[in-house]
Amino acid sequence: MKAVVKYGKGKGMIEMRDIPEPIPKDDEVLIEVKAVSVCGSDLHIYHDSHPYWPPVVLGHEFSGVIAGVGKDVEGWKVGDRVVSETRTGSCGVCYTCQSGFPQVCEHKRAFGIGINGAYAKYVTGPARLLHHLPDSISFEVAAMLEPIAVCVTSIIERCHIKAGDSVVITGPGPIGLISLAIARAAGVKFVAITGTSADKKIRFKIAEALGADMVINAQEEDVIKTVLDATEGRGVDMVIETSGSDVAISQAFEMVRRVGRICAIGISGKTTVSIPYDRGIFKGISFDFCFSSSWTAWERSIGLLSKGILKAEKLITHTLPLEKWEEAFYLLERLEAAKVILIP
Ligand SMILES: [Zn+2]
Ligand SMILES: [Zn+2]
Repeated sequence: MKAVVKYGKGKGMIEMRDIPEPIPKDDEVLIEVKAVSVCGSDLHIYHDSHPYWPPVVLGHEFSGVIAGVGKDVEGWKVGDRVVSETRTGSCGVCYTCQSGFPQVCEHKRAFGIGINGAYAKYVTGPARLLHHLPDSISFEVAAMLEPIAVCVTSIIERCHIKAGDSVVITGPGPIGLISLAIARAAGVKFVAITGTSADKKIRFKIAEALGADMVINAQEEDVIKTVLDATEGRGVDMVIETSGSDVAISQAFEMVRRVGRICAIGISGKTTVSIPYDRGIFKGISFDFCFSSSWTAWERSIGLLSKGILKAEKLITHTLPLEKWEEAFYLLERLEAAKVILIP
């Protein structure tokens, strides 16, 4: 089968190759991939700025149909529509796993990073990571369930967003836009999103379609002043940081109200980021580092999508055949897309 493979360590080193179809182990299923979504971390792997274990087939955001089951698998059958969590390799027995957070287990080797992913016709994975996909959710939208579940884990489960909150989201990339949709679904009274002039063409428009009260171009406006003016000088209840930019991270400390919360989801790509530490202490800010997704967040996300509460389809700007993966990367690099879905 054709698969998009990161074949070595270094920049680039990705190509479409012919590889054997995978065979599921006893506790695994074979999934026919129906749609796979291109993630920012796939681009980081392309640029060698994210961990990965080559050679590896890329792709961790996907949906599909079960095409085969290992002999020990119960409760799943050929033809079932499914999505899968990405925490392959999580051990289930360490302190982190046992305390309810297998998604941050140090032994985890996610799809498309540590084990072969879904930029291919077929992928195999453990049955224990599957979730049923209702008919009411298209395969294309379902391919975004992983980043949606990450945002639900971060914003709802960890940072406890509430109806009536005011929120600023820094960065209108896919995670920022999904966060916006979730904030709206949670019933916030005010949500603004920040970005740059490069976001005007596509991402700010999607932000408006998703119900942003305000889009703030950080290159044209004083972000902090705009947010304070919009909140009677107080600052917002929660800043959701998705950009990973050190400027935005510092600004978050000024945009958030006293005893407010910063929900950090964006990866900076740097070893160290300087923050206004004492300012954070004197304001009594909670700063939550968020990573990956919980089982419950997947179930919650599937519910939100199947009931039409989360309008994630607005994020899809392009659907391309898998062969055009390079074009997908190019569109995302140039900020000419929000979510690109590949069809194997
Ligand atoms: Zn991802
Ligand atoms: Zn573990």
